[in-house]
Amino acid sequence: MSQQPFSQIALKPELLRNLESLEYHYMTPIQQDSLPVILDGRDLIAQGKTGSGKTAAFGLGVLQALDTSRFHVQSLVLCPTRELADQVAQELRRLARQIPNVKVLTLCGGMPLGPQIGSLEHGAHIVVGTPGRIEEHLRKGTLRLDRLQHLVLDEADRMLEMGFQEAVDAIVATTPSSRQTLLFSATYPQEIAAIASRIMREPARIEVEALH
Ligand code: ADP
Ligand code: MG
Repeated sequence: MSQQPFSQIALKPELLRNLESLEYHYMTPIQQDSLPVILDGRDLIAQGKTGSGKTAAFGLGVLQALDTSRFHVQSLVLCPTRELADQVAQELRRLARQIPNVKVLTLCGGMPLGPQIGSLEHGAHIVVGTPGRIEEHLRKGTLRLDRLQHLVLDEADRMLEMGFQEAVDAIVATTPSSRQTLLFSATYPQEIAAIASRIMREPARIEVEALH
């Protein structure tokens, strides 16, 4: 398969300019397959190994649709661990560099609640976090997802292995059914198929074998 440049995809000029400055010239295979589906607004299950570029695949989709003039949580990315959530948030901030005033907030367990509640009072466009802590904020009423547009489950297989299924279901129940749901996973066990059939609508499925 020939590599395609990002300029092939109808991304905002500021995203394309920034990708050039990051020296992301060509899409990885998972980006090439998933970006058109994501920009089309469809639900997606994407399977690819570590290092295949999954973060930019959903990150660019989320940033393309982001409306920074509306200061509420538009996208939520769920990750299995704090380390992964921090990495995702860092990559999202890098990808968003040329879009003014994008606020990405991380909300993970093992961190004090007080500062997180303070940050939430200031507002955010994109929240990245672990399911347990996100559910806690929803229960407390310190986070609302009633205008969510994108829900991303990153490393969904690990999230389920770690026992986060109930928390994920509780989170999903607070989001609008009009949301777009994107699920990324290295493997595709039966549990993933089951959760996908509960929370997704006619998802496209892509699988990329090669490490890139
Ligand atoms: P995954 O989530 O699939 O494990 P990541 O999203 O963490 O992979 O990406 C792996 C690495 O590849 C990161 O360092 C990221 O900055 C880099 N990367 C992602 N997409 C591209 C691209 N199109 N061109 C160059 N580097 C990329
Ligand atoms: Mg990843």
